[in-house]
Amino acid sequence: MVDRVGCVVIGAGVVGLASARALAMAGHEVIVLESADMIGTGTSSRNSEVIHAGIYYSKDSNKARLCVKGRDMMYAYCESHGIDHKRCGKLIVATDEQQVELLDDIKGRAAVNGVDNLTFVDSKKVLEMEPNVTCHGALLSPSTGLVDSHSLMLAYQGEAEDHGAMIAFNSPVIGGEIRGDGILLRVGGDEPMELLCDHVVNSAGLYAQTISRSIEGIPAESIPGQYFARGVYFTLGGGKPPFTRLIYPVPDPLGGLGVHVTIDLGGQVKFGPDVEWIDSVDYTVDPARGELFYESIRKYWKGLPDGSLQPGYAGVRPKIHPKGSHATDFMIQGPDAHGIKGLVNLYGIESPGLTSSLAIAEDVVNLLPA
Ligand SMILES: Cc1cc2nc3c(=O)[nH]c(=O)nc-3n(C[C@H](O)[C@H](O)[C@H](O)COP(=O)(O)OP(=O)(O)OC[C@H]3O[C@@H](n4cnc5c(N)ncnc54)[C@H](O)[C@@H]3O)c2cc1C
Repeated sequence: MVDRVGCVVIGAGVVGLASARALAMAGHEVIVLESADMIGTGTSSRNSEVIHAGIYYSKDSNKARLCVKGRDMMYAYCESHGIDHKRCGKLIVATDEQQVELLDDIKGRAAVNGVDNLTFVDSKKVLEMEPNVTCHGALLSPSTGLVDSHSLMLAYQGEAEDHGAMIAFNSPVIGGEIRGDGILLRVGGDEPMELLCDHVVNSAGLYAQTISRSIEGIPAESIPGQYFARGVYFTLGGGKPPFTRLIYPVPDPLGGLGVHVTIDLGGQVKFGPDVEWIDSVDYTVDPARGELFYESIRKYWKGLPDGSLQPGYAGVRPKIHPKGSHATDFMIQGPDAHGIKGLVNLYGIESPGLTSSLAIAEDVVNLLPA
């Protein structure tokens, strides 16, 4: 038997949950289908938990627009909903003389994106602010911060449910077809079922392309490539954190923001993520990669003691372009992009997807009027 439903969101990560919340609040009947047995087990629990300011992204990109908007929405949401967060700020440090000029470019690009509060800090002032950091100069970003991403997801889930949304766990979408009377989804798991939906939001993160390919009728040429870039973290052994702010090197144009320092809200210092292109999703942390971390970190923290890093965890970036491409954008596809009424596909929702989650959800609602 086929059940008829209003709107299905595939995936209960931070973006799927934010979308479910926004859709339910806009009056949609919402069911979230999640293959795991709880929320946020994918990329949403394997990231740096940084509220990004919106500094680096290309002019007029979705990332630039949604990060700046999402950051402001996120701070307001955390404050009004009692979610643990901290506007701790970050320093982007030039580790050699050439990089000092790049700081100028970064400041200029940030201003174009509407992030106009970055200030230059000279090396002496950096030492006063962060006595363990050695550099040739830095930019201070006061609107970068941290958020407890699990509490955030629980809040999104709670509000979605308060507005009538339901989450079905252990419910993987395994295929479907585009029909004249709606979008049919086949759901596997313990209780297989078929749902005929007016609206579908494909927010399956690393597997969004897999799902689109499994739904007959979605034009193949509208589905981007599917690539994976792992980032591992190493944690610093106990004691007082050596920094009070987030410390980032000048970013690598070919991927990732460099081996940076994040201090989570519990005071745990972690370094990472690095960038390693892989063929399939795999969260293994190879302890040998630690050697490269020591080298990168000592460019700005000379005092990093030998033997102080422990393998932490890994996340995998959902990429839509192969290795070697310049940083790419979020791909948010509504009916205009693929020609299918009622369908939104979210591809390549890598960083700053956590920061942007509330703003992405607004886009989703606008693409699917109730
Ligand atoms: C290493 C790393 C660091 C990052 N750091 C930051 C940061 O500091 N700040 C920031 O803003 N962003 C950061 N990000 C990005 C951010 O984590 C992601 O953009 C965000 O978590 C994406 O959420 P999502 O809901 O799209 O995906 P996910 O969290 O991956 O959720 C997708 C969900 O879909 C489910 N699913 C998959 N297939 C199916 C199926 N067939 N049927 C049903 N369900 C399915 C999965 O189980 C999963 O729960 C980082 C990302 C990485 C990889």
